[in-house]
Amino acid sequence: MKNNKRSGCTFFTCVLWALLSLIAPSLHAGEVIISNPDFDSLALGLRSDVLEDPSGILQFAALQNNQHPWRPLGAKDLPPQFTSSAFWLRVSLLNQTGQSLNTILDSGSVLVDYLDFYVVRSNGSTEVVLTGDRRPFHSRQGKTRTVSQPLEIGPGERVTIFMRQTTHDGLHETLTPTLRSPEAHDAQLQKDGMVFGFLFGTLGALMLYNLFLAVFTRQPGFLRYVLLTSGILAWGFVFRGYAFQYLWPNSPDLNNQILAVIALLSHAAFSLFAIGYLNVRQLTPRWLYLANWIPVALNSLLIILPLLGYYALSFASWFVAGTLTQIIVVATNLLLIRQGSRPARFFIVAYAALGAGTTIYYLHLLGLMAPNFLTEYGIQIGASLQVLLLGIGLADQMNTLKAEKLKAEQTARSAQLALNSKLTEEVRLRTMELEDLNHKLSELSITDELTGCFNRRHFNQVLEEELAHHQRQDCPLAFCMFDLDNFKTYNDTHGHQAGDRALQQVSHHLHEVLKRKKDLLFRLGGEEFGVLLNMDQPIDKAVPFVEQLRQAIADLGIPHKANPDGVITASFGLIMLKPGSAISTPTEIYAKADALLYQAKSEGRNRVAYAIT
Ligand code: GH3
Ligand code: MG
Ligand code: MG
Repeated sequence: MKNNKRSGCTFFTCVLWALLSLIAPSLHAGEVIISNPDFDSLALGLRSDVLEDPSGILQFAALQNNQHPWRPLGAKDLPPQFTSSAFWLRVSLLNQTGQSLNTILDSGSVLVDYLDFYVVRSNGSTEVVLTGDRRPFHSRQGKTRTVSQPLEIGPGERVTIFMRQTTHDGLHETLTPTLRSPEAHDAQLQKDGMVFGFLFGTLGALMLYNLFLAVFTRQPGFLRYVLLTSGILAWGFVFRGYAFQYLWPNSPDLNNQILAVIALLSHAAFSLFAIGYLNVRQLTPRWLYLANWIPVALNSLLIILPLLGYYALSFASWFVAGTLTQIIVVATNLLLIRQGSRPARFFIVAYAALGAGTTIYYLHLLGLMAPNFLTEYGIQIGASLQVLLLGIGLADQMNTLKAEKLKAEQTARSAQLALNSKLTEEVRLRTMELEDLNHKLSELSITDELTGCFNRRHFNQVLEEELAHHQRQDCPLAFCMFDLDNFKTYNDTHGHQAGDRALQQVSHHLHEVLKRKKDLLFRLGGEEFGVLLNMDQPIDKAVPFVEQLRQAIADLGIPHKANPDGVITASFGLIMLKPGSAISTPTEIYAKADALLYQAKSEGRNRVAYAIT
């Protein structure tokens, strides 16, 4: 397995070098002559010789015989690769400035596992410094995040530097050795501090702000965003060597483990964020939704590798799992863009930002791009841009959700209003129907079925009210009762049904007579009726009026042979109460009228007997 990887990497390296030899003219001149005392920095990669030691056992002492296949590096750095070989770099510096030079030799690498510096001076002495990020931070003489080494070169002195790079378990990092003046070194550190401070500060602020949002709004989208942001922030902090320098300088193994763990978890967080942000569950087929969980699970599971100490394997699997993650997320994203998803459009732009940063970084590592600001910081800038754009996308999504919610609320409210007014109309109609029914019911309850006159019950009520009115207002009251004469014999002669019809005829006719006035006709029982007279006229007008009623019945001319007049007639008893009369109860009024009716009967029928009290 290792052999395969190695031959693959070697092949890759050869192709790369071939390419580079075409595009980058070799500057290798055996040694570097420094003649300008004010030089800023010198890239030493292109001026170095390289020796690969596949066995990794070659000692420094054994290099002196010059029997080894050194060759010009031909590029400014050693590309990253998986191999168990050790690599030696060799470069000679000749100080022709005429003065002593204080310089810093910067390996350019944060993550180189073991880097041994051998500085051989003109006088034959050799200085050895064993350092690298698999050794405690204090092992490096230059206290910087990249492994560096202060180097003093006397006037006219030639020093030869050997750098031996070996790995923990086979993953080589890139070396970009550079010689700098102390001023240039300081400037570099300050630029690093400024750029990374800005980028980490932006990420940190975004992370904290969204953490607050997550806590206060309880929206899982914000929490996923916090995971993503903190993943990228933590990865940047460890990857760029600041965590080792400031957080755990004495724990090199832990530092390497954490780097790999965070790299894997960042991919998991990226996938997790995409699932939620793109609403993959609702908008894509179920199989694709499940497929989106594979990177989350896989990247999370793979952290077991660095925890067990397999560093190179961790990154090999990180690369594979990462590629899978990108394929699944980007494919899902493209599908959603085709479906018109707005968040998906934000996502692809954000993704492109990181993609561009990463591409520039790797182009530089592979020697295909000259070092510049972007190659140096591109990956961090891309990551920060990605997070920033996703933050904007998240805000936009919240906005869309809010607008959708508002619209749904409005729809619900207008539906509610429509329902309400429909209900109100229905209630109004029902109420009208009920009122109508009630009216009919109450009319029925006070109406005599046969004749349509008011019934006895209503009579009792009305008489009581009229009497109270009479007493209160000191106004007159007149009431008459009438009873059809010899009606029993009418029934006997013409039959009961004819009797009913006669009762109806009489009452309908009287209704006609009475309807112009406000007088009320009651059927008190059998063929006995009552009339409450409206007394807005002088009381003595009552007698002729009742006389009219009597005449009206006779004038109907309903044949009744057994009656002396040959037609149906009626006898009337009329009682008139003057204002302030002594009569005080309905029973008394009724009894008086009844007595007068009896009197009219006894006096020969078809007449009106009356009294004023
Ligand atoms: P008088 O002149 O003294 O009143 O003689 P009368 O026969 O009318 O008196 P009586 O009270 O003895 O008879 C009343 C009759 O009225 C008895 C009944 O046959 C008749 N009658 C009462 N109610 C009804 C009714 O609803 N329909 C019909 N067809 N006849 C009724
Ligand atoms: Mg009777
Ligand atoms: Mg009668």
